[in-house]
Formats: sequence, structure tokens, C-alpha cells
Amino acid sequence: MPAMSKNPLRNPTRGGRTWIPRFIVSLDPQVCTGCGFCSKVCPAGVLHRIDDGVVVIGTPDDCRGCEVCERTCKVGAIRCRPREELP
Ligand code: SF4
Ligand code: SF4
Repeated sequence: MPAMSKNPLRNPTRGGRTWIPRFIVSLDPQVCTGCGFCSKVCPAGVLHRIDDGVVVIGTPDDCRGCEVCERTCKVGAIRCRPREELP
């Protein structure tokens, strides 16, 4: 088994192959109303509503970049971007 990298983005977690997440999803807790809609529509199970008013990005590496969460959020609290677009 290959050694685990200290860089969490380069750990061989998918069938032994190196997995590099291509998208980054971020949620602004100051803006989020906790409605939970994004967690219901995410096709990859990335977002979890763990308590009333608390939505967390549970498995960010699984984000597919579909932007469904962004389009669903009525207050603009959640964003998804390709990794290379970020500074
Ligand atoms: S849809 Fe927007 S406001 Fe609702 S839980 Fe998700 S991020 Fe928060
Ligand atoms: S962009 Fe798509 S896969 Fe990524 S968190 Fe949002 S709904 Fe889920």
C-alpha cells in the first residue's frame, strides 16, 4: 500500500489511485439560514444538516461541481468553484 501523503489533497483514497478534488464548496455560516435545501438536493451527499440551523460540508472531496446547491440557495450562502479558479 502506498504511503499516505501529508497533503490531504493527494492521498490515494479512491481505489488506490491518487485523488485530487477538482471543486471547492464553501458555506458562509453568517448568511446561511439553515433551511437545509442544499443538503437535500446535493447529488453527492456532500452537505449535511446535522442540527436545526446547522449545515456542514461533510465530505468536501466528493463535490462534483454541479452547482445545484448554489442555484438552490436563496440567500447566496453557498458557493462551488473549480479549484483552479481560486487564488
Ligand atoms: S440552501 Fe443556503 S441557506 Fe439553506 S442551508 Fe443551504 S447554504 Fe444554508
Ligand atoms: S456543487 Fe453539487 S456536488 Fe458540490 S456540494 Fe454543491 S450540490 Fe453537492
